[in-house]
Amino acid sequence: MAQADNAFLASVLSYLKKSIELGGFPKELYDYLSRPKRILHVNIPVRMDNGAITFFEGYRVQHNDALGPYKGGIRFHPEVSLADDVALATIMTLKNSLAGIPYGGAKGAVRVDPKRLSARELEELARGYARAIAPLIGEELDIPAPDVGTNSQIMAWMVDEYSKIAGRNVPAVFTAKPPELWGNPVREYSTGFGVAVAAREMARVVWGGIEGKTVAIHGAGNTGAWAAYWLQNMGAKIVAVSSTKGTVINTDGIPAELILKYYRRELEFQKLPGKYVSDPAASLFADVDILVPAALENAITEDNVGAVKAKLVVEGANGPTTPEAERELYKRGVVVVPDVLANAGGVVMSYLEWVENLQWFFWDEEETRRRLESIMASNFKRVFSRWAQEKSWTMRDAAYVIAVERIYKAMKARGWI
Ligand code: GLU
Repeated sequence: MAQADNAFLASVLSYLKKSIELGGFPKELYDYLSRPKRILHVNIPVRMDNGAITFFEGYRVQHNDALGPYKGGIRFHPEVSLADDVALATIMTLKNSLAGIPYGGAKGAVRVDPKRLSARELEELARGYARAIAPLIGEELDIPAPDVGTNSQIMAWMVDEYSKIAGRNVPAVFTAKPPELWGNPVREYSTGFGVAVAAREMARVVWGGIEGKTVAIHGAGNTGAWAAYWLQNMGAKIVAVSSTKGTVINTDGIPAELILKYYRRELEFQKLPGKYVSDPAASLFADVDILVPAALENAITEDNVGAVKAKLVVEGANGPTTPEAERELYKRGVVVVPDVLANAGGVVMSYLEWVENLQWFFWDEEETRRRLESIMASNFKRVFSRWAQEKSWTMRDAAYVIAVERIYKAMKARGWI
């Protein structure tokens, strides 16, 4: 595994190594968790609208299944590499363990820019990927979901394709499906909602509440746009938002409904009210109380951390802060609520949807959201109280140690270690 030249995987492994040392776990645990159990490498042919066949490279990385079936999303992105996918699968193992749900970790990826495909080409790619990984997934084996560049429509095509292969309907093999096809309406906003809950819990501890606090959102995709919506709903004010198109800054507040409209492609980014600048990184440097990096990994690095002014960072994306940048932030008294805690709302909701699907029984939206909120809030409390006992640790250290401990105990009970 070429890891030294992949900054993202190197970051995840360094966080992992540190937590294994801090928790006093055996070194063999690092040997296990620093490499995935299985990697599937596929090439998916798609007949393009111009008549030619194009091949798209894809992966499914199954990192660890000590706690249960593999679980994690599928990313469609033009620059995603196998090493990125391994890093993301490793994060899923830790996130699922920390959340207390019965899952191991996995992640899938296809190197493609989905925005450049027609709807028909995208459907063919989605179905082709589902067929390619079908032998290694299943409702109690490996359960994919969306990630960057994929959505509930893509899950619908995939669950349909898998069901055709199985010769029966298999709702529980993919999560985050549309409500009309065995999904739950909460899943669409669950990652952003969970980010907002994590930010609110942290703000209560730090400032006594989130009401009136200013927020910058880096990335206006599913996570960022819905985090903006729920943070505003909780009384915070969104004063900066970025997308690939640039950044809009407005100290009077940017209505989250409009950010959602942009995410749904119903409004041009430049039409958001406020001062527009073309630099998509500008939201990272906004003068705010809370920064939510919700785009991709390695957003806050050693090179730009000096310009970050936020007092609190709540990670919506996976791996947006590098270890060097995190060290620098802590030196300045800036706390980072880590991805494995803050953005777990998506996979926790996936778990609730999976439980519904296995039983062909569904909760209503309010009841589901109440369950999700209570799991997120209690996860926050567990991490926070562990962190409070260990003053020299980062919050990520506390989250990782709790996550690693649960995996270690399961591996030990199984006799793997
Ligand atoms: N892709 C999301 C994540 O990174 C959700 C995964 C899932 O629901 O399985 O956590």
